[in-house]
Amino acid sequence: MYTYNDYIKEEKLPHIWCAGCGNGIVLNALLHALADMQIPPEEVVIVTGSGCLARLVTYPNTSTIKMLHGRVLAGATGIKLANPNLKVFCLMGDGDGATIGGNHLIHCARRNIDVTAIICNNFNYGMTGGQYSATTPYGAITTTSRYGLVEENFNMAELVKACGAPYVARCSATDVLNLRKYIIEATQKKGFGFIEVLSACVTHYGKNNKMGDAPNMMRQIDSMCVPAARAKNMTEEELAGKYITGKLVDRNDLIDFGTSYQRLREEVTAK
Ligand code: SF4
Repeated sequence: MYTYNDYIKEEKLPHIWCAGCGNGIVLNALLHALADMQIPPEEVVIVTGSGCLARLVTYPNTSTIKMLHGRVLAGATGIKLANPNLKVFCLMGDGDGATIGGNHLIHCARRNIDVTAIICNNFNYGMTGGQYSATTPYGAITTTSRYGLVEENFNMAELVKACGAPYVARCSATDVLNLRKYIIEATQKKGFGFIEVLSACVTHYGKNNKMGDAPNMMRQIDSMCVPAARAKNMTEEELAGKYITGKLVDRNDLIDFGTSYQRLREEVTAK
């Protein structure tokens, strides 16, 4: 019987993230989900890239690997195809996963690679000083948009859904119990499981946009979240600037890449 303590290197604590950052919540939810699923630590690989969230590899008592910036999903694809028995978790910030790594994101979803991808969307590049990313909202102040951003942002959940991912969920970092549940469901789905976590970068995004301290910032993020059931009865105008949350896609009709590839291989070698 595995417990939470089997998945964490306690000697590495305290973590390095700023007080009030959502990254610690995501780490905590992931390790609890692993304990809930009773996955042996030696069968888990956690893949990160660059940025604040990428430092997460320091803490789990599992195999971990840090890829180049934006290449988390490329590395994870190789790991999963080399050893399909491993459970592969891809932890990315929005800069890593949706901006520099955007191309890998859409193709990993399209190819239906059997990994669990979690993007911690804090609306900017935190580690490098608060520059805007592909998920920074229109009009937001960042280090590289001092007078307000003049670009529209990606709706990551909709993007991944359009690419054909069989599991997509979104929640805020304060919604810890659902986050834990979504991680479990995404992992148990045979195929690409995607979760977007709306999170607080208090040090840069929050400060630049005068969102107050961490609790105030999280309250503001929560106020932008609309559960999917409620969103159905809202107009496009009412949903402007909001994030629809909950389980957004849960399909069982798609075959993941590894399974398709293995079937083809068996067919061809049997001839
Ligand atoms: Fe978190 Fe932002 Fe601090 Fe990075 S800079 S640890 S994202 S609050």
